[in-house]
Amino acid sequence: GSTIGILGGGQLGRMLAMAAAQLGYRCHIFAPPGDNVACEVAAIATIAEYDDLAALRTFAKACDVVTFEFENVPVAPLQSIMRDVPIHPPIKALEVAQDRVEEKEFVRKLGGQTAVFAVARSEIEVEDAVATVGTPAILKTIRMGYDGKGQLRISAQSELASAWRRTGGQPLIAEAMVHFDAEFSVILVRGADGDIRYWDSPRNAHEDGILATSTLPAGPLIESQQGAARKMAAAVADALEYVGVFTAEFFASGEGPLFNEIAPRVHNSGHWTIEGAETSQFENHIRAICGLPLGSTATIAERVEMQNLIGRDGERWLQLLGDPAANVHLYGKAEARAGRKIGHVTRLYR
Ligand code: ATP
Ligand code: MG
Ligand code: MG
Repeated sequence: GSTIGILGGGQLGRMLAMAAAQLGYRCHIFAPPGDNVACEVAAIATIAEYDDLAALRTFAKACDVVTFEFENVPVAPLQSIMRDVPIHPPIKALEVAQDRVEEKEFVRKLGGQTAVFAVARSEIEVEDAVATVGTPAILKTIRMGYDGKGQLRISAQSELASAWRRTGGQPLIAEAMVHFDAEFSVILVRGADGDIRYWDSPRNAHEDGILATSTLPAGPLIESQQGAARKMAAAVADALEYVGVFTAEFFASGEGPLFNEIAPRVHNSGHWTIEGAETSQFENHIRAICGLPLGSTATIAERVEMQNLIGRDGERWLQLLGDPAANVHLYGKAEARAGRKIGHVTRLYR
């Protein structure tokens, strides 16, 4: 069998490695020290910093293809192994996704709609940036944010006093607050031959900036905007010559789908596909990066609900095992800190 290299040691890598194992592949995880729950299910693991070029080189030479499960893998070290091993999705997708400004500009160039935004590269620019987009607004660090981290909601210009410090003293994007009716995601897989398949778009509900649930059917509003959103997501994937699973998050409102952000990887809002679709996002990602034919993305239940287990939610897992409709997934994390995703549960109704 061949060896798939995965950069990143989180639950997404863990579920990718499990799907890869089912297809007879061996996984080699490369991740910095930490709670690396992917390593436990992989055949081989290298624990090293991403900028440890010697370790990265050795890893690359031991793999037949390299992918990533973490969108903040630094780009420069990856470029240094490009000649040693094929990397899917392309590094360019990482570059775009790592910078909220580049990301929005990339989407807009392809005809996509985004929230009104302005950039503050230094503290003195924050006030102007927020004035440009108006209040209420949301400030986000341009780089490195996830699960709502590095974000600040501003309801009036007077709240800006310590905003720069509170978001960590780094370049910010100010976005106009979108008054959406619902949120959804387009999860697609693109093969090396450009073949694109879409899973049904779930309705995503967030709590404190973290995904809480993904449900299907998503309801009439999202269903009516899914087509336009798919076109936009596919245009981005095509422009990036993308190979693998690609996710785009959208706000649905009366004005049509508004693009929020992309994830150049398998996505939390696609976890329901493990039980709820003919082929899961994890399996199709493995198929795509290995050049195999893609599997059907059809939904196989009338109703699907995926619920994240966050922080102390995990204490309910024994009780969840008593529910015959519940498919319980635990990630094996050593610590169940508040706000930390420690598992998820998917229920299918037919
Ligand atoms: P992820 O874990 O999805 O990568 P993230 O930290 O990159 O999260 P976003 O997706 O940008 O953060 O924002 C998290 C959530 O905050 C969104 O799903 C949405 O509910 C809300 N949000 C973000 N931007 C806006 C906006 N401009 N207007 C209204 N709500 C917003
Ligand atoms: Mg994000
Ligand atoms: Mg998001």
